[in-house]
Amino acid sequence: MLLENLSPRSTVLSPELGRSLTFDREGRLLIYFRDGETFKRSLGGEVHLRFRRGSRQRRRLDTEEGLEIMGEAYAVAREARPWASHQLERRLDEEILRWSAADLESERRRFAAVYKPISILPPDQYLAVVLQATEGCTWNACTFCNFYMDRPFFVKEPEEFERHVVGVKDLLGKGMLLRRGIFLADGNALALSNRRLMPLLDIAAKELPDRKLYGFIDLFSGERRRPEDWRELAERGLDRVYIGMETGLDEPTSQARPRSSRLL
Ligand code: SF4
Repeated sequence: MLLENLSPRSTVLSPELGRSLTFDREGRLLIYFRDGETFKRSLGGEVHLRFRRGSRQRRRLDTEEGLEIMGEAYAVAREARPWASHQLERRLDEEILRWSAADLESERRRFAAVYKPISILPPDQYLAVVLQATEGCTWNACTFCNFYMDRPFFVKEPEEFERHVVGVKDLLGKGMLLRRGIFLADGNALALSNRRLMPLLDIAAKELPDRKLYGFIDLFSGERRRPEDWRELAERGLDRVYIGMETGLDEPTSQARPRSSRLL
């Protein structure tokens, strides 16, 4: 028996016990569950497999394997169509079954045109709209972190940021319905002074109104911001910040603190 869950944000169908598929409202596969294996497709087109064999295991599929799994998942959706309700039938025809493996592959290129790789997000922000106000991390020296080794720190000017936000909206399309707040990336966009940050937040609020803001911050920049700066950010919707912690070293070394004591 085909089970369906059709919410305004997503489409879930389960044609048999132990098999289910979740799509965004653009019809892009998000999650394919198959007999204890969970395949998650990122917006950037990567497919990650999770399963339990003794302990919990995970790995990223290579491109060929990823496309094979995508093909299998869409074939399962196609085979379920004869048993679909009228509403699911419409979603299958208008959103889901229009995707081919080649289209999903071209999504990867669309993503790369808008974003630098999204290296990491806090687990509760996986469904945020990620906006890269900055790229990289000003500090980039925590020994446990190599997320931004591939890029220098870079601040987008307001015009460039606006193009980025418009590009993100275009990429997400109706997939935006599934997304909650805004995560201001990359590693520490909040290292910017309020003077530089506010015009970017104004653009984010204009293009994506009424969404709470979240972001990473490095410890040093957090200390430098005055309470009134934090209040101003909170009034603009900043709801929570996330800090990466490193410990195990009793004494700070000469390398353990950036020289500048000012925000950027
Ligand atoms: S501050 Fe954060 S992003 Fe930067 S190096 Fe440390 S953990 Fe990584």
